[in-house]
Amino acid sequence: QETAAKVKAALASKQTQKDKEHPPPPPPIVYEPPSSDRKDGASYQVGKMLGKGGFAICYEGYLNKKRYALKIVRSKMAPKMEQKFQTELQIHSKMRHQNIVHFLRAFSADACTYLVLELCPNGSLMDMVKRRKGLTEPEVRFYSIQIAGAIRYMHSKGIIHRDLKMGNIFLDRQMNAKIGDFGLAALLVTGKDMQTIRRTTLCGTPNYIAPEILEKGKKGHDHMVDLWSLGIIMFAMLTSKPPFQSSTTDEIYRRARNRDYEWPTPETSNKYISQEAKDLVASMLEEPDHRPEPDVIVQHDFFLSGHIPTPEEITPKLRDYPPD
Ligand code: ADP
Repeated sequence: QETAAKVKAALASKQTQKDKEHPPPPPPIVYEPPSSDRKDGASYQVGKMLGKGGFAICYEGYLNKKRYALKIVRSKMAPKMEQKFQTELQIHSKMRHQNIVHFLRAFSADACTYLVLELCPNGSLMDMVKRRKGLTEPEVRFYSIQIAGAIRYMHSKGIIHRDLKMGNIFLDRQMNAKIGDFGLAALLVTGKDMQTIRRTTLCGTPNYIAPEILEKGKKGHDHMVDLWSLGIIMFAMLTSKPPFQSSTTDEIYRRARNRDYEWPTPETSNKYISQEAKDLVASMLEEPDHRPEPDVIVQHDFFLSGHIPTPEEITPKLRDYPPD
């Protein structure tokens, strides 16, 4: 049986192949047709390409001197993709939080659907962590608090993200973290347990998937999968690699089930990682009902034992260079 993740991957590779043969030229102008709330329609000037994902391509867009991200998706999609995309649209458009990419509007034109999103011009958390080979503990405090806040908000609205990873967390102009891409998010509907959700889609990216998603017959605590992912993200921000990184997916899953990971030491690398950071990450990689909720996370000793930068201390130059 095909899963949504597989469909997405298959379509993505097909698309990349096509794009290599005929790279899509950036449309110079995108016209938004008139609608009830915008009687004259609008014309977005299209700027540079921001990136390509599994099924979307993003460009900078300008309208009335404001900059946006224009996410373009071809309207004709495999039915499964279509359904996923509709879910993404529905869920993302209802989210309003300072650490979630702001969804402004969506419209269809020329066989494409366009999402107008808040522009995050500083790339993803993954790009920064790779370039910097890991962040400092104060920076990890800063970003963990922001992401935990966004998770708390989503859960309070009955949304589980299910695909939290560094590549889905973008950086705005001031280097704040913004969760984007709600392609795998699910509404927490009471009566639907993890088995139902799993049956519908096996989702997420191997490195960040909570073990209970893979196990059969487990029930409840569905939203805790996002806190597992935050644990993985924190480990990766601190060390530059996710904890269960392996050459095969099966090996990643096996190691995740066994919590088989090691922290780098000052001897094996030049990294010193505090005991508080290790304890907090370990608690997030526990069984779902033992994982701390976002409110408990931000009260952890890790956040009390060292500096938490103010937004002014987090500047775009940190994207490329560690602080002195
Ligand atoms: P998909 O849903 O196909 O995976 P993404 O939402 O990940 O697509 O977007 C594809 C790429 O476009 C991202 O990897 C990123 O480089 C870029 N991108 C997406 N949203 C934004 C945004 N709000 N601001 C800046 N760049 C973005």
